[in-house]
Formats: sequence, C-alpha cells, structure tokens
Amino acid sequence: MPLSLPRTLRLKVRSEAYGWLNTAAIEVNQVFNYCNETAFTAAVRTDRNRKWLSGFDLCHLTAGATEYFERIGADTIQRICTEYAQKRAAVRRRKLRWRVSRGARRNLGWIPFKAASLKRKGCAVRFCGKTFRVFERERLDGVKWKQGCFAQDAVGDWWLCLPVELSIEQTVAPKESVGIDLGLKDVAVTSEGLRLEARGFYRDAEQRLGALQRRGHRRQAARLHRRIRRRRQDACHKFSRHIVNTYQNIVVGDVSSLALAKTRMAKSVLDSGWGMLKQMLRYKGEHAGRSVYVVNERNTTRACSSCGALTGPSGLRQLVVRQWECAHCGESHDRDVNAARNILMAGSRCWTSVRGNESSPSVRPPSQTSRLREAGSDVHKAAA
Ligand SMILES: [Zn+2]
Repeated sequence: MPLSLPRTLRLKVRSEAYGWLNTAAIEVNQVFNYCNETAFTAAVRTDRNRKWLSGFDLCHLTAGATEYFERIGADTIQRICTEYAQKRAAVRRRKLRWRVSRGARRNLGWIPFKAASLKRKGCAVRFCGKTFRVFERERLDGVKWKQGCFAQDAVGDWWLCLPVELSIEQTVAPKESVGIDLGLKDVAVTSEGLRLEARGFYRDAEQRLGALQRRGHRRQAARLHRRIRRRRQDACHKFSRHIVNTYQNIVVGDVSSLALAKTRMAKSVLDSGWGMLKQMLRYKGEHAGRSVYVVNERNTTRACSSCGALTGPSGLRQLVVRQWECAHCGESHDRDVNAARNILMAGSRCWTSVRGNESSPSVRPPSQTSRLREAGSDVHKAAA
C-alpha cells in the first residue's frame, strides 16, 4: 500500500553562496517590514478606509516591487506577503515584530520561494539567476516540491528546506506491541527492557559552553549548541527507528514535559528530549503504518505489573529507588521496565476498546496494516 506523507528535506548549502543569501535575506526583511508597516497603518486608520489587509491585498500592493531589489523576485515577494498575512492572522495582532537585519538582535535569514523558481541544474540548483551547490544533492532525486525556503541557523549556515511528499511503502512489523516509559535516568525504557540512555549531552558540554559564552565566542558557542542538539537528535532517531521497525502497536505515557520543565528537574527534562522522541515515534509510526497510542501515566510507577497492587515507589522524591519488590506478590521489578509494562497494559485496553467500536478521542484506530500483519504472521507460522 504506497502512501505519501509530508516531510521536509533539509540540505546544507555550500558556503560560497552565503554572501549572496545574506544580502537576499536583507531584501526579504525589507519586504516583510513594508508589509508590517502598511498592514498596521491600514488597520489603525480612523476613517472609512480602515482595513484588515489580507495576503492577497499585500501581494497586490507589492506588485512590481521586484525592480527595486537586486536579488529576490516576484514569487519570493508574494510568498513573504502571504506568510506575513498568515502569521498576523494566527496571532491576531495588528502588527508583528520587525525583522531585524543587523546587530545582535538580528533575525536568522529566511528566503521563501515558490516551486517554479527553484530548478535543478546538473549537480546544482538554480534560484533567481544564481547557481547553488548543496550537500547531499542526491536526496533531491525524484522528489517534487511545491514551495520551500532558504533558512539560516544560529551558527550562520544556510539550509535549503523543501517540504516534499515522500511515498512510503508500509511494512509489517515483526512484533506485536511495546510500552515505553519516559524517564529521567534513562530517556526511555521499553517493556522489554531496552534503554535509551540519557547521556546528559548538555551537562557534559555545559562548562565548555559557559567558558565560550563568558569569553564572548558567540559563534563557537552556537556551534557547540548545535552539536549537542544533533547528538541528542541522532540518539532519538536511532531509538525511534528501532522501535518502529520492530513493533506494530506502540504505547507511550503522556508525560507532560512542559509541566516538568518548570520544576526542579528542568534541566534533565529539557536535556532528555522526550518531546522530540514522542514526535519521532508519531511520524515514523505513521509512515510505516503503526498505531501509536498515548496513555495516562498515572500510577504506572506504583502499580505492580504482575498483580496490580499499588506497592511500588511514588513521587519525585523516590526517584532513587531503581529496584523494588512487590509486597503483595513478591515479584521483583526494575522501576522503569515495570512502568513500561503498565503503560503497555493501559494501551492494550485502548485498542481492544477501539475494536469494540467505542471511539476514544485520544486513540487512533488501528490501521489496516494490523490485519495485514496478522495475515503475515499466519504465513510466517505456516512457513515455520
Ligand atoms: Zn505484585
């Protein structure tokens, strides 16, 4: 069953084009600020001409502005107008923040464009009469984009971002289901005992980061930040890929990382990347035709996964308790694995209820592939 789902390709632009892009970004900011000014003036007029300008109105007002700009073209200007109008409508303000081109409070560069203005040309891409070379250009092979942008990161590097539809062949997972407990000591532990360790990516580099910031090495500090983020991302990618390739039903506890981020544990929480991991499980699962469930985490640490008695450790203060023995049935548990098993059990209640035609808002109905998987496992059994 081929299916297509949206993804964003991010390709790093080779540094020889940075100068061009930096100048073009200033022009983008000028257009954006023009929109901001014009839309605000029109919205605060006291006479009958007072108007809330739409993206269409702004496109109309900026028509022909290309001749004042060296780099950007009409399609980029139109994209800026529509994006501006969308953002403004979303926050319901008469005015947005200005885009700043220079100085310490400078906005990171952003140059949007429409599909037709970015063309592949040999081993490079062409945009506004300029040829760009990008890294990993083979990822552009056979993909179609509707629009996209050049975006700058905090280090100052430029990326070509293209939202694309990738067709994905849905597969059949070898195993039925897994529960995942998100924790602080390990970022995630599965009901089968697999762990994603929190290696404290941030804490390791914290001192070096502090030293760089004190000495005013802003660029190097930004680079280190980016490296930490990527290492964390990489670990989450590998873990979620493994889970999605292995299991059909994936159940995650609904830890609210934002709520915990306000507590004393904040640094560990932000460091561990739960949100990122959940998001990855969700979209990768969707691509592969898995069912991802989010269940209430309540009592999952305290309940014994063998007998259900609430005999386990509870509360943040008892985080130190890693191993415990159930006072009721005598089973000994690893804290996190036990919690993951409880989460799995809570999840399995969800999908049985879905099969019984009771719709629950937080639960996605099991996909067709679960039937496929059952059929597949029968074949497997027959072969064995
Ligand atoms: Zn027990």
